[in-house]
Amino acid sequence: MPKSREWHLVARPQGWPVPEDFALVETETAEPGPGQIVVRNLYLSVDPYMRGRMNDVKSYSPPYVLGEPMLGGAVGRVVASNAEGVAVGDHVLHGLGWREYTVVDAAHTVTVDPERAPLSAYLGVLGMTGLTAYAGLLRTAEFAPGEVVFVSGAAGAVGSQVGQIAKLKGASRVIGSAGSDEKAALLVSEYGFDAAFNYKKGPVAEQLKAAAPDGIDVYFDNVGGEHLEAAIGALRLNGRAALCGAIAQYNATEPTPGPHNLAQLIGKRLTLRGLLVADHQDLQPEFVREVGSWLRDGRLRYRETVVTGIENNLEAFMGVLRGDNTGKMIVALPE
Ligand code: NAP
Repeated sequence: MPKSREWHLVARPQGWPVPEDFALVETETAEPGPGQIVVRNLYLSVDPYMRGRMNDVKSYSPPYVLGEPMLGGAVGRVVASNAEGVAVGDHVLHGLGWREYTVVDAAHTVTVDPERAPLSAYLGVLGMTGLTAYAGLLRTAEFAPGEVVFVSGAAGAVGSQVGQIAKLKGASRVIGSAGSDEKAALLVSEYGFDAAFNYKKGPVAEQLKAAAPDGIDVYFDNVGGEHLEAAIGALRLNGRAALCGAIAQYNATEPTPGPHNLAQLIGKRLTLRGLLVADHQDLQPEFVREVGSWLRDGRLRYRETVVTGIENNLEAFMGVLRGDNTGKMIVALPE
């Protein structure tokens, strides 16, 4: 079996992660046991939620274990199989990323077809982040046609898909916020948002008010903090917010203040509801069918930011936290 390199967490980050918290370790790839396969990973996912798994706190996904390889979504080619029904040359999606080769129970993988979509798409637009956008907007936020939608983190993987799905499903107006003028311009020119702003250029509440003078019905929150407070202020009667992420506070070292305007929930009968993609796997077939058809006829667009090489996996992850990406951040491991 070939040698493999894999990323270990070796210290728990305090605030922003630093390179000393991680190690790239060379290992021998084990022979596959009964029911197992060996996968040469071709695309790895780096995601904001991984920052939470670096802390030693109980959460919806367990903390990474110090001195062991980190976990994450990956797609690769089967190079050895000891499992019925999986052949060498097949492509699979699995959850043991951050490494070049993975030995995994075939039962914990999903076969994917590179003829139907580029392999990296199974990590993004047709994968976890895509389902998050679809389920979060349509189920958690109970979006209805004719409504005004605001999404933060709008140039990222989840956010860019939320805005486009809202338009495709009949939103009367879609507004996005992102961290640069270039990203804000892209939201309008490429993804068809009605308005977008750079949240670094001024108070979110003021910029949102200018973009949505009559208020909003749905807020899809990828960011938390100032964005959430501004959205609560802008939500109209019976408005809903899907709380998907709070990336503005993932590296915080002190407790972060909550929104100061929660009392508005009462008079405006607002609903703020948390969202976990894992709860919505039942939507997967419908999601793939509908998003797949939008992709085929060009009505839904997506971008990826691709970083090449296992040695750059950590830098790609840090890039997601900094906002280096437009669309899904992917690490490519060419053979
Ligand atoms: P992403 O949006 O592709 O990448 C993260 C983006 O966050 C960056 O590109 C950056 O863009 C933005 N950002 C970083 N710091 C920020 C700050 N202080 N304020 C505002 N924006 C900031 O990542 P993603 O995978 O699509 O995830 C988006 C959010 O959804 C994350 O919060 C993630 O944790 C969450 N999520 C939740 C679930 C779930 O099941 N609940 C599933 C998937 C993802 P800018 O340049 O615009 O700042």
